[in-house]
Amino acid sequence: MIYFMGAFVFIFGLFIGSFLNVCIYRIPKKKSIVSPPSTCPECGTRIKWYDLFPVLSFLILKGKCRSCKVKISPRYMMVELLTGLLFLACFALFGLSGQFLAYIVFTGILITITFTDIDEMIIPDSIMIFGVITGILFVVLGFVPEAGASIKESLLAGLFGMLAGAGPLIIINLLTLLFIKKAGVGGGDMKLMGVAGIYLGATKVLFALVLGVVIAGIFSVISLKNKKKNDDEAKSGTLKLHEIPFGPYLAVACFVSMLYGKQIVDWYLSFY
Ligand SMILES: [Zn+2]
Repeated sequence: MIYFMGAFVFIFGLFIGSFLNVCIYRIPKKKSIVSPPSTCPECGTRIKWYDLFPVLSFLILKGKCRSCKVKISPRYMMVELLTGLLFLACFALFGLSGQFLAYIVFTGILITITFTDIDEMIIPDSIMIFGVITGILFVVLGFVPEAGASIKESLLAGLFGMLAGAGPLIIINLLTLLFIKKAGVGGGDMKLMGVAGIYLGATKVLFALVLGVVIAGIFSVISLKNKKKNDDEAKSGTLKLHEIPFGPYLAVACFVSMLYGKQIVDWYLSFY
């Protein structure tokens, strides 16, 4: 039975991933996510319902449009598979519960902003507003473990988490604006961590922030090294922070913290 449920959650995740692909493609372009129906970006042919099955359709059509045969990016399938697998991970840890529902919604938000940030360097405001509304709803319903005993306590916990997530980045921005006359962190990143704070609570969002900086640091050192090999300009060693989207690293860190943040922080604190 548990395997049957797991398979169902995975397939459900594939379909949600297919919807997230639409969001990733359309929201930064300020297009509606419900209409018109999906068309081939190359020839404009409306995609038939039987060609819209996640993963399977891509494999059957060998990654090509049925009418014009233009190649379709395998990333659509990757996003679907990623969504299915992450939903499955949430199910494995939390079962079919309120917490599972809250966590898959937040996972969907994280996946969407990861790819809009990679594609267009945008973390859309509409998704952040959706995150604030759903986050507060789930905290009030008691679906996240950080919720309080009463609605008032839950709201306070959500507010405190939001400040814990966005606050450090706001302070960094104020300092960098003051000293180097440039914003160190994008506005989208601040909003993202504010939303993450509602969902994760203060402790887990602070852990996510630290983890995100560490992951981003490791990757920027690697990319800087690769860049140095073939780019003379990089010899000065100055890293242009604005050219690296920070959102994807924060999103990975938020997901890890959502699943294991409490255990990791408790383990760390046990040494003191
Ligand atoms: Zn086509």
